[in-house]
Amino acid sequence: MNGVYSLSHLAKLLEMTPKEVATDLQHLSKTLKHSGDLELLMVPAQCRSCGFQFSHKKHLTKPSKCPQCKSTWIEEPAFTIKKMKS
Ligand SMILES: [Zn+2]
Repeated sequence: MNGVYSLSHLAKLLEMTPKEVATDLQHLSKTLKHSGDLELLMVPAQCRSCGFQFSHKKHLTKPSKCPQCKSTWIEEPAFTIKKMKS
């Protein structure tokens, strides 16, 4: 279960809707830790045009527009699930 997932991919994997994953992310992170020593890491969304990085606290789903350059060329946030070292 290693790799990089988009929010929608992660949702499919966990049989949840992207919205559920987004609202339940903190809980999910704890659950993963408890159930299998897995660590959930987040790569925030980023504007591909100017490099603006969105706050992942506010933007768990793909933002529609860059506030800085108004570009809609946005890289969607990604999630990595890592096995924690024991
Ligand atoms: Zn931008």
